[in-house]
Order: sequence, then structure tokens, then C-alpha cells
Amino acid sequence: MPTIMKTIADLHMHTNHSDGTLNPTELARLAKAQKVDAVALTDHDTVTGIGELVEETNRLGLEAIVGVELSANFRPGTLHILGYGFDTEGPIRDKLFGFQKAREERNPRILERLKGMGMPMTLAQVKEISRAQGQVGRPHIAQTMMRMGYVASYEEAFERFLTKGAPAYVPKATWGAQECIDMIHESGGVAVIAHPVQMKLQGLELESRIGELVEMGLDGLEVVHPDHGPQDQGLFQSLAERFGLLTTGGSDFHGDHKPGIQLGQGRPPYIFLEKLRERIRKRRH
Ligand code: AMP
Ligand code: FE
Ligand code: FE
Ligand code: ZN
Repeated sequence: MPTIMKTIADLHMHTNHSDGTLNPTELARLAKAQKVDAVALTDHDTVTGIGELVEETNRLGLEAIVGVELSANFRPGTLHILGYGFDTEGPIRDKLFGFQKAREERNPRILERLKGMGMPMTLAQVKEISRAQGQVGRPHIAQTMMRMGYVASYEEAFERFLTKGAPAYVPKATWGAQECIDMIHESGGVAVIAHPVQMKLQGLELESRIGELVEMGLDGLEVVHPDHGPQDQGLFQSLAERFGLLTTGGSDFHGDHKPGIQLGQGRPPYIFLEKLRERIRKRRH
């Protein structure tokens, strides 16, 4: 039998366990249909979708590796850290409960504000309408506001009410970059900056802040991402080389929440996954 070359490893995607719209089984089937050879599910702050995903990828003969996306405190932009290849039953498991608790405290406060503005809805309605599993956040609330006729679109819900600085915005407790990197390492994984363009830094400032993250133990930079133009991609590739970092890539697929994005978009090369696995093996020794 001829060997079939693997070409695409999409290492960044979301399900309805965080802010995506497909469930893990549907996501695996779509990956197969899109001719993606390997996937990493990187839901925000949770790993509860991975079991179901792996069951389906095994059935379909697709490769899958464990992942998660954490949000760290950062200025001026945002810093999202992807974790890969860790033990989901390791110490990270309880730490993720902390992230979930922060949401449980925040969601009722957002709903309280919306109610005060004449848009009542219960958390149960939000879960039901958005098909949320596990992590409930602003995307689910936005979708519910639209379905209940309070706003005309998902974007309007964010722009008028939910985005930072808008009247129903409530900040959420977040963790420092060092804590995020440590919790991934402690459970045997590697840590990669997601869509580094969103840090909103340039030139020397960008280099020095990445240098600080390398000191904290950072392992890689996500180079292929829909938010990166060819110039960004070249820049992050060369920074990765300079700092001895891994390079990764993914579509950041969210289903209907980001309708322009296809699974496997940008065709992140399979070789990225091979290098990532090498690093995970080293870390575990
Ligand atoms: P949360 O974790 O509940 O604060 O929600 C963060 C998520 O909301 C992000 O991952 C995006 O999917 C979505 N989001 C944040 N800001 C906007 C915006 N201005 N427009 C649309 N979606 C947004
Ligand atoms: Fe997201
Ligand atoms: Fe992100
Ligand atoms: Zn993401």
C-alpha cells in the first residue's frame, strides 16, 4: 500500500465546550471532510470536549492531540497561550476549575446588567439556546440576545453591550503569563503564544516582551493564523528562529461565531506537529 503523505495539521479550534458552535463529533467529521490530517482541540479554559473528539477522530482515522487556550493578563493587546500534549488529568485539571469559577461569578453579573436594561434572560435559557457545554461566556450571551430579538446581530450584541467598556461588560479574573505557562508545563505540555499579532506590539517592544515570555519557559509561537498576513507570518517565523521557539499554526475555527473561517484554513503544515511532538516527548523525559 502506498504511504499517504500527511499535509495539514490544524492545531487551533473551538467547540461548543467553549465558544465554538459545533460539538466535538461534528468538528471531527468536518476535519475529515476538509482533508485535515491532524487536529488539536484548543477550547478556552477547558478540556471537557477532548474525550468525545478523540473517540470520533479514532473512528475516522484522524490524528488528534490534546490542547487548551488560556487567556493571560497582558497589555496593550491580548495574550492567549495555547497548551499542547499535557496530561488532562494532571494538576492543570484543578487549575482549570479556577478559570471556570471566575466565569460562574461573572455570568450572573452580566445577566443582571442586561436585565436592568430591559433584556431579561436566565442562565438556563442561555445554555439552552446557545447549546453551550461547559464554558459559558459572552459569545453565548450574545447569541441568546440575538435569538430573543434584543439585538439584530451577534456583532451588535458585542458592540452595544458586551465588549470591553460597553454597559454590560464585566471584567473576568485572569491569570499571569507565568502561571499559565507553569500550569501547562507541570502537566507535561508545551506552551505556545496564540495569534501573537493580537499582543499589539511592534519592533523592539515586541522582541523584548517575547524574550520575557521565553525566560518564563515559552516553547513556541503560532505563526499560521487567519489574523496574520504574509508579513506577520514572516516576522513571527524569524522571531521564532531567533529565540529557538517552535512554530505552529491553526485556523482558530469557531463555527458560526466566525463564519468566514474554514477548518484547515491557511493549511498549517504537518511538519509543525512533528516538531511539536518531539518537544513534548523531550519535556516528558
Ligand atoms: P469571554 O471569554 O466570555 O470574555 O468571551 C470572549 C470571546 O468573545 C472571544 O473569544 C470572542 O469569541 C468573543 N468576542 C470578544 N469580543 C468580541 C467582539 N467585539 N465581537 C465579537 N466577538 C467577540
Ligand atoms: Fe474564542
Ligand atoms: Fe485566542
Ligand atoms: Zn482560539
